[in-house]
Amino acid sequence: MKTSYIRKYARRLAAQAVDLLEKEGITQYDETNDQIVREVYFGNVLDIYPSGKYYLPFACSNVVPCPKCHGEGTIPNPKYDEMTYEALSHLERNRLRRMTRDGKHYNIMPKQWQREMDLIRQVIRMVEPKIECPCCYGVGSREAYEDQVFTRYFEEYLAERDIYITASDGNGCDMIVGTMIESE
Ligand SMILES: [Zn+2]
Repeated sequence: MKTSYIRKYARRLAAQAVDLLEKEGITQYDETNDQIVREVYFGNVLDIYPSGKYYLPFACSNVVPCPKCHGEGTIPNPKYDEMTYEALSHLERNRLRRMTRDGKHYNIMPKQWQREMDLIRQVIRMVEPKIECPCCYGVGSREAYEDQVFTRYFEEYLAERDIYITASDGNGCDMIVGTMIESE
C-alpha cells in the first residue's frame, strides 16, 4: 500500500469515527478520571489497522519482515564512501571527547561548534555504510510501518477534534473513541 493511500484511509476512517461518536456516542460518568465522557465503540483493531494484525510495538514478532531489508531496517548505502566516513567519524569522536573533557554538551556548545558538528554529522549520514530502508523507513516491516503511518494520521485527525482513543476494559483489540464533556 502506498503511504499516500494509507494517509487517506486513516483520515477517512477518523472522519467516520467522529461521525459515529456524534450520532451514537453514549454520555456517561467516567469514575477513574472523574469526568463526564461521551464514548462509542468504533471497531476491532484487526479490522481497522492496515496490517489486520494486533501486536505490541516492542514485540512485533507476527508481522512480516520487510522484503527489501529483511527486517533490518537498513540497506547498504549506494553512496557509501569508506574514506570520508572513517575520517569524519574519527573527527566526530575526537570533538566529542574534547567537549566531554571540557564538560561541554552539544546544546551548550558555542554556536560555531554546533554548526560544524551538524555539518560533520550531515556528511557522515550521506556516506555511512548503511542507510535507512526506503521501503519500511527503518521499522523493519513494511506492514508495521503502514500501521504506524495509519495510527499517526488517525490519531492526529481525532486529537485535533479533542477526541481520544482507548481500548475497552474487556478486550485490548476493541477500539473506543471518546471525548470529554465540559462540566459546569
Ligand atoms: Zn525495510
